[in-house]
Amino acid sequence: MKADDCSSAFFVLLCERIMKRIGVFTSGGDAPGMNACVRAVVRTALYHKLEVVGIKRGYQGMIDNEFIELNSRSVANIIQMGGTVLKTARCEAFRTVEGRARAAANLKSQGIEALVCIGGNGSYTGALKLYQEHKIPTIGLPGTIDNDLFGTDFTIGYDTAINTAVDAIDKIRDTADSHNRVFLVEVMGRDAGFIGMAVGISGGAEGIFIPEDRGEMSRIIEHFKRTGRRSKAFSIIVVSEGDEEGGAKAVEKKLKEEFTDINVRTTILGHIQRGGSPTAKDRVLASQLGYNAVLALLEGYTSKAVGIQGGNVVLTDFEEAIGKSKKVNPDLIRMAEILSY
Ligand code: ATP
Repeated sequence: MKADDCSSAFFVLLCERIMKRIGVFTSGGDAPGMNACVRAVVRTALYHKLEVVGIKRGYQGMIDNEFIELNSRSVANIIQMGGTVLKTARCEAFRTVEGRARAAANLKSQGIEALVCIGGNGSYTGALKLYQEHKIPTIGLPGTIDNDLFGTDFTIGYDTAINTAVDAIDKIRDTADSHNRVFLVEVMGRDAGFIGMAVGISGGAEGIFIPEDRGEMSRIIEHFKRTGRRSKAFSIIVVSEGDEEGGAKAVEKKLKEEFTDINVRTTILGHIQRGGSPTAKDRVLASQLGYNAVLALLEGYTSKAVGIQGGNVVLTDFEEAIGKSKKVNPDLIRMAEILSY
């Protein structure tokens, strides 16, 4: 971003005069911090003399004409709230040319000239098509607990989700210790193991099953055989829902088949991980991204995702953000293995 440059400041001033009204919406799965992000978008836009319209339930609301005017007070007292006050939805109709044409017509009749979309890969894809077909510019912000979006080190909601899961593991640890049990904790992550890896490391897990890493089942069986589980009074094993074994229940079944005498319990954390008040880290990230999304629109950008990499704000083309994937650091996988035994 060049928002501090003189030329860029001039361009922003120019665009302030040209652009009058923008829309903001949340799309796909909800994530803690989305509200902080909406607040930042609204207040930055108002500061730059833009009107802001909230679009309810993502693309579905665009098609169904669910628009609300937002002012500074509309986003008061939401920074600490989980979920999204704008609601979110998955919208099949928007995947069709006709659905997008209806959405574009509604946006134009509302006088909305540009959009800020808070969501994941699918939401970026929809926004890209909307621009290609109807020339409505959009800047995307990564709102998903999975942290699996390319172009940013962290996504909005990830920090809250892992802290929620670690808090649950700390509680499970107390009861596991009392009963000498093996506890399997299933966390979210269908395709990516960012949550599993972070939760496993910070929860002190003895095993971590993530989609990116193969062979954890045989490693844990071998480890239990070697130690006879004598080395530890209890074990916590974290399993991503998308692991090759098919989740924690499948791992439990295999462990019971292998060791008839061990006491295994499974906890599936599920949607608990999506809820709750966003952490300070997520609120700062969401605010920073929301603020920069409006600046990017004012600087004339479109079809780009805003992210933070190495502490710097970066813009990534939607095509690149959608097409590339971010992988769990292999060093972390190796480290987790060494620290767990
Ligand atoms: P999450 O990571 O939480 O799943 P997401 O943004 O990837 O977030 P999706 O359900 O994949 O969630 O996408 C959100 C919405 O974006 C879809 O319901 C649909 O309306 C729109 N969308 C997704 N893919 C496309 C596509 N190929 N063409 C047009 N619109 C799409």
